[in-house]
Amino acid sequence: MLLPEVKRSWQPKDRLPVIWVEALSCTGDTISFENSLNPGSWEILTELIDLRYHYMLMAASGNDAMDVMYDVANSEQGRFILIVEGAVPIGDKERFTIVGTKRGIAGFETPDELLTAYDAISYLGRRARHVMAVGSCATWGGPSAAYPNPAGCVGVQKALPKRRVINVPGCPAHADWMVGTLAHLVLYGEPEIDAYGRPTDFFGQTIHNLCTRRQHFENGIFARKLGDPGCYYRLGCKGPVTFADCPIRRWNNTSNWPVEDNTPCIGCTAPGFPDEMEPFFHHLPDIKLPNITTTATAVAKAVAAVTAAGIGTHLAVTWGSGHLAKTIKRGLPLRQKPPRAGLTGKISNVLRSQKSLWYPDSNGKWDR
Ligand code: SF4
Ligand code: SF4
Repeated sequence: MLLPEVKRSWQPKDRLPVIWVEALSCTGDTISFENSLNPGSWEILTELIDLRYHYMLMAASGNDAMDVMYDVANSEQGRFILIVEGAVPIGDKERFTIVGTKRGIAGFETPDELLTAYDAISYLGRRARHVMAVGSCATWGGPSAAYPNPAGCVGVQKALPKRRVINVPGCPAHADWMVGTLAHLVLYGEPEIDAYGRPTDFFGQTIHNLCTRRQHFENGIFARKLGDPGCYYRLGCKGPVTFADCPIRRWNNTSNWPVEDNTPCIGCTAPGFPDEMEPFFHHLPDIKLPNITTTATAVAKAVAAVTAAGIGTHLAVTWGSGHLAKTIKRGLPLRQKPPRAGLTGKISNVLRSQKSLWYPDSNGKWDR
């Protein structure tokens, strides 16, 4: 889908070097990136960018790989693009994720001193022309930063507060979102971004606005269980507060997307995912949201009183008046929920029973 635009604009001299650092992640964004089809990953790697360092995709390993990374950081300073996949652990002196050694950094007498993910991102982030965070872990902390977040994971922007970071969230990020943003950086410089650093080309509208089942929402036709046709609002769909173009871009070579495959959007591109989007199968509070002309309750009232009563009952027992509702009403960025009372003890017991090295003590403080 992106190929004609990229081909029309591409010149060989524009091929910028790229360093791709993997912090605390599942590698899902790398896999998604490799699944790019139009342009294919081969075209991207041979024609669009010069991917010099990626621990999974490069032939070199160990010190040889580290030497390549430091060589690019020095010889291409101010020219290379830094891509970060995965959250940045800043707890316990950042020692949760080691990406290599400091052998290329001047002033280190011991060349094999360990380079943490935070060290690497700080060092490279200062030298890069652009910094791009891919996937929800790199953008907001994502699943890696989910409660109780013992590693103290944060997104790249928090780790690099003085740098502009282009955020391409998603769990994983769609290949088109990553490749399209990368192509824009190479060919035209920084794309237009929203308040959360997301390119508006891909994250400019809500899932809800683009949804193929929007008419069901407007008509008050709500699915009662997974697999039903109809709108998935009452089954927990977070499309109304999630900005991404999944309904029109679609996934897996455009074959489908979640709602059309009978499952709600769980808001994987939203700040605060997953904590702020849970519980995944309880619906959002019925409040007026930007760009939404109505609410499920309003529609249901008009369609059938019994439906409205059902939603009202849901609201009384779910998180309608909770943190998400308050933050959306105030228009504030979403924040991680505080630990839930009683949960710390349960988690501690589970971790102890699994002989985990880390567990919270009776005061909720994490310790070995
Ligand atoms: S609530 Fe979800 S399923 Fe319903 S119209 Fe909005 S995005 Fe589509
Ligand atoms: S539909 Fe929602 S949860 Fe699914 S990939 Fe798109 S933004 Fe993420």
